[in-house]
Amino acid sequence: MRLTILGATGSIGVSTLDVVARHPDRFQVLALTGHSQVDLLAAQCKQFRPSYAVVGSATDAQRLAGLLRAEGLRTEVLHGAEALVRVAALPEVDAVMAAIVGAAGLPPTLAAARAGKRVLLANKEALVMAGAVFMADAQRAGALLLPIDSEHNAVFQSMPHDYAGKMARSGVRRILLTASGGPFRTASQEILAQVTPEQAVAHPNWVMGRKISVDSATMMNKGLEVIEAHWLFNAPAEKIEVVIHPQSVIHSLVDYEDGSVLAQLGNPDMRTPIANALAWPERIDSGVAPLDLFAVGQLNFERPDMRRFPCLELAYRALKAEGNSAAVLNAANEVAVAAFLERRLSFLGIAGLIAATLDAVPQGALPDLDAVLEADRQARVAAQGILARMQSAST
Ligand code: NAD
Ligand code: MG
Repeated sequence: MRLTILGATGSIGVSTLDVVARHPDRFQVLALTGHSQVDLLAAQCKQFRPSYAVVGSATDAQRLAGLLRAEGLRTEVLHGAEALVRVAALPEVDAVMAAIVGAAGLPPTLAAARAGKRVLLANKEALVMAGAVFMADAQRAGALLLPIDSEHNAVFQSMPHDYAGKMARSGVRRILLTASGGPFRTASQEILAQVTPEQAVAHPNWVMGRKISVDSATMMNKGLEVIEAHWLFNAPAEKIEVVIHPQSVIHSLVDYEDGSVLAQLGNPDMRTPIANALAWPERIDSGVAPLDLFAVGQLNFERPDMRRFPCLELAYRALKAEGNSAAVLNAANEVAVAAFLERRLSFLGIAGLIAATLDAVPQGALPDLDAVLEADRQARVAAQGILARMQSAST
């Protein structure tokens, strides 16, 4: 199987290459992309010898090309958003790992779907922004969408599959998405008011990129995942429930009409869903240690607290509102998380900024990619304006 890995230098990208390296006869890497980590990307090119490597800027492209030439590699170096779209849709590529973080991942991920690839979907923001367009175009092109997000991969594994690998939803009562609760699961409102970026990115069970780590701390990550599940499994908001499960051993569950509940368990390591999607419907070694239930001992469950974690409620609200609301939610969240990481917004201010942006941007339909990108742009402008007013009010 010939692969393009979008976001190869990130947490998911590195885990993907770890699995790929275990199966040299099975996988061939045709393209790798990274945004600005030129040295890491150069090392990855040296190991996997792709035909193409893509970075963000012309300056970084020049530097990468120099490093690769010095190694005697013939990898062609490209840069910019157009190049990402190009390597996502190369005719000779079979599968695309979509592991760019945030809205920047939407155009190439959608391009892979439109080209009918096997799309390994980590970039949940693409579905949150453009779910209707994405699912329709993927189906039309015959793309095989395989979820990488651990919860959605668990649901996928717990659902019945027909011969074409499509989801048959017969008899499903509810989808239960598990959530660790993040680093502040038991924190009081007073503690939440003082949270620093360093505390927020230190997740108890998973090692991840900075943006998704903050999303996990606010529980917006779970909110985005509810919306992601809606699109992937064609399930209404009422049928998707969130269950706090601090051990992160059950990755999600499907509750059937007959009372059966199927779940997927494993150590919290993204190489499991990555290997599952890379090899599906077969199973391959991922490097993940076997689950030791005796060491785990207990599995606990709690109801999420929407008052302490209002981001989760905002995501349900955006999903139910339909139209452009989820795209606005996602854009406002990206602005808010970036501002929080730059210490321009408090932890509790994240939800406040998103709520105000949802109120400020008029409702609208999203018939195509251009409309999605315009809603994203509008929401960012609105969120930046609200952020500036919040800052001047607090000084
Ligand atoms: P990360 O920050 O570690 O990596 C992000 C990757 O995207 C890097 O390769 C970076 O170079 C690239 N990138 C960043 N901005 C870019 C831009 N403007 N243009 C092109 N490329 C850009 O993030 P991550 O934790 O690997 O997460 C990647 C995606 O996977 C996210 O959508 C996240 O929600 C999802 N995801 C991650 C995990 C996890 O365990 N890390 C789990 C589930 C889902
Ligand atoms: Mg997840």
